[in-house]
Amino acid sequence: MARLIFDKSRPGSRRYDVADFTGLEPESPFVPDDIRRAEPLPLPEVAEVDVVRHYVKLSQENFGVDVGFYPLGSCTMKYNPKANEEIASLPAWAQLHPEQPVETAQGALALMHELQESLAEISGMHAVSLQPAAGAHGELTGMLMFRACFNDAGEERKVMIVPDSSHGTNPASAAIAGFKVAHLKSDERGMVSAKALKALCEKHGEENIGGIMMTNPNTLGVFEQEVKEVAEYLHEIGALLYYDGANLNASLGYVRPGDMGFDLVHFNLHKTFSTPHGGGGPGSGPVGVREKLMPYLPHPLVTRAEGGFAFYRPEKSIGRMKLYFGNFLVLVKAMVYLRALGVEGLKRVAENAVLNANYIQERLKDAYDIPFYQRCMHEFVLSATRQKKLGVRALDIAKKLLNDGFHAPTIYFPLIVSEAMMIEPTETESRQTLDAFCDAMLRYAREIEEDAEKFKELPNLRIQHLDEVAAARNPVVRWAPEKL
Ligand SMILES: *Cc1c(COP(=O)(O)O)cnc(C)c1O
Repeated sequence: MARLIFDKSRPGSRRYDVADFTGLEPESPFVPDDIRRAEPLPLPEVAEVDVVRHYVKLSQENFGVDVGFYPLGSCTMKYNPKANEEIASLPAWAQLHPEQPVETAQGALALMHELQESLAEISGMHAVSLQPAAGAHGELTGMLMFRACFNDAGEERKVMIVPDSSHGTNPASAAIAGFKVAHLKSDERGMVSAKALKALCEKHGEENIGGIMMTNPNTLGVFEQEVKEVAEYLHEIGALLYYDGANLNASLGYVRPGDMGFDLVHFNLHKTFSTPHGGGGPGSGPVGVREKLMPYLPHPLVTRAEGGFAFYRPEKSIGRMKLYFGNFLVLVKAMVYLRALGVEGLKRVAENAVLNANYIQERLKDAYDIPFYQRCMHEFVLSATRQKKLGVRALDIAKKLLNDGFHAPTIYFPLIVSEAMMIEPTETESRQTLDAFCDAMLRYAREIEEDAEKFKELPNLRIQHLDEVAAARNPVVRWAPEKL
């Protein structure tokens, strides 16, 4: 099979020119001569039916949540109702122009306003900006707001504490915003201990501490037990608390970051609130803040105005984090999802997400090691150390799952678990699907004990033994005509 559409090109099998059937001049008179290209683009020449087959085949080689179970921990690869996509693509939303006068886009502003308020309510915050384009972008926004707040108070506060179980974007965002990252070691429960935190802060000088970035439940899937002490202590020494809300799926409707003492939270609308995650589509990472940080929010925010809604700029805004108003159609999907589920529905999301994860953990706990075993939240992390002693790594098990039609869990993360496999089933999977996955994992454990070498055979995968290092170090992602 030709790998690229260019490989299928047969010179002379002419493509259509618009001019052929419209009678229009191919070169638009609106494009000035000096910026028109001299030579036509070297496009592949392929029959229409072959183009269709090529791309449909490629799409079938991809794995998506519409194809099978996708327990990729930390990523919340849940099924999102197609109706939400349909609604977001209605022309009334999709054809809005960001430059049109606000009087003519009042419906869009009303939606943004309702979403701001809903997310504030869900998180226990006072105000929300919908601008950031992803979770990591929300983190950067939050860090810049912390920085602005300290600058205002004439404070330096250079150090940001990040637990060692945290998502890699946390330390990266803190560093980009100019903080020095101090890693906090998790305790034997896989949690942040207030005592260890205090010792770390004292080591760096309490007056230098900007704050902490915490995820709760954390990336081990466990609910932090000492948040109250942590929040009280950090506020006492003048620091701020950042809540990484990527795991909000686990706690919707039950606990709120604002009530736990956090000053700022980011949401991943593309995890929790109905936009498919991954695949290169746009995401959205709104941030919510408590009163103290409201003056620094990115602009524009939406507010009620006489007879409708208007944009406004908070007095000490850190500025814009993105052009215009964030990824608007993602906001539409989130709002549709919230309206459809309501408060009770959101609670059931959390309940089922937690139930499903615990169900899998219980079924797998004897066949695999689970280093921080306890009642988990929406995900848990197992370790393939026992299997590795027999010669099979977490990576091999992940490939076996792909071979058998399941997406692999996240592997080798979080870093504090060796041979980690991070499993997040999400709330949208049935008992039958969970059982099929567990049955496969249990069968693997037996097969590995019987014959580890044989286990690694992968009859169904298109690329069976990828050279991961070469693929990561020397990726060839661009077609170059010389190669023809
Ligand atoms: C996904 C994730 C992020 C980053 O979010 P992106 O939208 O991918 O930038 C941050 N923290 C945690 C815990 C996550 O799972």
